[in-house]
Amino acid sequence: MDSATWVSRVSSLAGMYAAPISRLIAELSKLPGIGQRTAQRLAFYILRADQADAVALAEAIREVKEKVRLCEVCFNLTEEPRCTICADEGRDGSLICVVEEPADVVPIERTGEFRGRYHVLGGALSPIDGIDPEDLRIDELVERAGQSEVAELVLATNPTTTGEATALHIAELLRGRVTITRLASGLPVGADLEHADEVTLGRALAGRTSLGGVDKPVNPPDK
Ligand code: ZN
Repeated sequence: MDSATWVSRVSSLAGMYAAPISRLIAELSKLPGIGQRTAQRLAFYILRADQADAVALAEAIREVKEKVRLCEVCFNLTEEPRCTICADEGRDGSLICVVEEPADVVPIERTGEFRGRYHVLGGALSPIDGIDPEDLRIDELVERAGQSEVAELVLATNPTTTGEATALHIAELLRGRVTITRLASGLPVGADLEHADEVTLGRALAGRTSLGGVDKPVNPPDK
């Protein structure tokens, strides 16, 4: 019997699982991209795994929830009050790259084209989903943008409808106060930044375009 057949045979027996197995399947199926069948497959994999491996998985989940928090400055993920980027004196404090999620910092760092700091919004504006400006860290961004050392905000929200709406909202809010730029086109429309390749993202950063702001030249990114 192949595994798909086996899983569908097993799933037809739903309700016959011991309660701890049902609970594990229910928890796993809450993960993104994990349907009921995959959750069952993973649950049975964990049941068959070494005790040490299964406990290590549980401990890793516990540890990440206990130790990882948001940076008090930029809201990136960190173990310390400030993330390594905010704590790094060598980074250019005049340049702030605005992203939706902590996961978006990684691909931009990988390009090696950006030496400024970040601001993680915690999502994108989507009135239809009930996500309004006050649900994102926009007030905190406005406050940071008011600091004298900040000269430019690079809006690197995703090239999606909600990402574009968020970039426009921020540009409107801060127009005339700092230089505001947007990643150049060339990123696949509708895709997440997280999945953009380094070369494309590096080019988009280097060729960022002005969305208006104060009359200051836009510094080229550090090489
Ligand atoms: Zn930080």
